[in-house]
Amino acid sequence: MSPARAVAAMALIAMAELAGASGAAAQAYPTRPITIIVPFAAGGPTDVLSRVLGERIRAALGQPVLIENVTGAGGSIGVGRVVAAAPDGYTVSIGHVGTHVANGAIYPLKYDLLNDLDPVARLPSNPMIVVTRKNFPAASLREVIGRLKANPGKISAGTAGAGSASHIAGLLLQSLTGARLSFVPYRGTGPALQDLVAGQIDMIIDQASNSLPQIRQGSIRAWAVTANERMASAPEIPTVAETGLPELQMEVWSGMWVPHGTPRAIVDKLNAAVVGALADPAVGDKLAGLGLDGPPADQRTPGALGAFQRAEAAKWWPIIRAANVAAE
Ligand code: ASP
Repeated sequence: MSPARAVAAMALIAMAELAGASGAAAQAYPTRPITIIVPFAAGGPTDVLSRVLGERIRAALGQPVLIENVTGAGGSIGVGRVVAAAPDGYTVSIGHVGTHVANGAIYPLKYDLLNDLDPVARLPSNPMIVVTRKNFPAASLREVIGRLKANPGKISAGTAGAGSASHIAGLLLQSLTGARLSFVPYRGTGPALQDLVAGQIDMIIDQASNSLPQIRQGSIRAWAVTANERMASAPEIPTVAETGLPELQMEVWSGMWVPHGTPRAIVDKLNAAVVGALADPAVGDKLAGLGLDGPPADQRTPGALGAFQRAEAAKWWPIIRAANVAAE
């Protein structure tokens, strides 16, 4: 055998051994704790969803599931942490239309959202609710908008940072009404909501799962749901169409990803654990109480999330680029 051929043969043997080793690791997976990186603050909607699902994933896979909140820059820092992690299924990214789509058009990311992560499963969706501090002087969404227009740049709206769902919804409200909000970025809408309850800020266009408990307690006011239908879990809140702003439609869908190159057997195990969690009636009840819904049964594969994420990027990136949204 020529020296060149010998080298090629050795390389082939080494590659086969590596593939065998990673195949065995994929079969045994998981043998140690799995970390889910939540790119927003503890107590917020992404965090709560991760904890509800994480509990059931732990039971299914037989290993602890740790939640790490890596916050900042609209969630782009936490997502970057996962992109840089080993593709071994032990570091998992959870996020939503903001972190895994919108941020690609806002931040000069050092990673490619569509190619540096592999999709695992789409997670439930949530409408948003226009909420204000309890004593905000209004009696309807129309009156809230009237106040916004009468006080340009003066009404403070909490967000989870540029590109977050709460921020995009605020931009949509501005473009539909001509109002100008004073955005206040937080490390997640969990802390923003605390400030709303305390009366430190005026409003949030917030994910339903975050606001509903405070709305039920009467500590904030809810004006409209950004969907075509009222929510089963809060039928007393009118829709945006009923209250005069039908185009303020926004649904926050979430998903789970792993670093690109993670073995398919590991992706499939994680996907099965998530799909099992979503099918669990106890989990379903908890999520339904928070206004979290779906995804449809035929949208629960890794491929369905990948296709949906690309379609959402094709829809949102031109809109966001045209709006010229500044990064933090
Ligand atoms: N979902 C929130 C947002 O994008 C952030 C969070 O989960 O705290 O506005």
